[in-house]
Amino acid sequence: MPQRPYIVGNWKMHGTRAMLSEARAIDRAAQRHMKVEVALAPPYTLIHPVHREAEQIGVGAQDCHHADGGAHTGDISAAMVADAGAKFVILGHSERRQNHGEIDAVVRAKAEAALSAGLRIILCCGESDQTREAGKAVAFVKKQLKASLPVEHEALANGAGSVSERLTIAYEPIWAIGTGNTATIEDIGEMHAEIRALLIELFGQEQGSEVRILYGGSVKPDNAAEILSTPEVGGALVGGASLTADSFMGIALAAAEADEG
Ligand code: PEP
Repeated sequence: MPQRPYIVGNWKMHGTRAMLSEARAIDRAAQRHMKVEVALAPPYTLIHPVHREAEQIGVGAQDCHHADGGAHTGDISAAMVADAGAKFVILGHSERRQNHGEIDAVVRAKAEAALSAGLRIILCCGESDQTREAGKAVAFVKKQLKASLPVEHEALANGAGSVSERLTIAYEPIWAIGTGNTATIEDIGEMHAEIRALLIELFGQEQGSEVRILYGGSVKPDNAAEILSTPEVGGALVGGASLTADSFMGIALAAAEADEG
């Protein structure tokens, strides 16, 4: 069954309780756009308050630790974010990989912990500008995904239910995040087709073709329609433009229209 477009806001390190009114406005608007699945990943401190007020949108975390608990000052486990109300977690974001030295094996361990805690995961991948200029973007992203994905985890392995219920991929070229630059439609189409082929190789035709592949990197209301109409683009992971209900729901509206064809 085709999935609804998935529009996910990543608030990064933005937002205090004053931003709850924006989350409420996003939730109310999402109730008028039921053909689109809308979700927000606020900072840890706002997961519970947003979860308590949200009637329609999904609420998630931007990261979690791979351990169940213990001496990890400042870290938060998958079970803790689930307890706060998160239903999903974004993992392997390039800002985590760059700023916290998260290598693929760490991302994979976090994905295993999140799946074990019953969370859905949004696994991010994407190349640097140097890798793209060297013509190695596709090979890099496929290698990164293969190394970060816990294909054998019981929540994903064949026969354990729908992989697409648990897993979403976000392709985010690093040079497009927060820069105002987006990849060309041809490059997005090529990369998403390659990721689709990899998902089918890993999970089989039926399961692999259902997993949504989001595009992320400077998605805005005015470029969303074209990006979201690209084959194999199942939604968007949105940073800056998710901070206000107006711009974020402008993207959700574009997703609804793109889906209607
Ligand atoms: C992101 O951080 O995932 C992102 C895509 O950010 P922006 O939309 O601001 O480029």
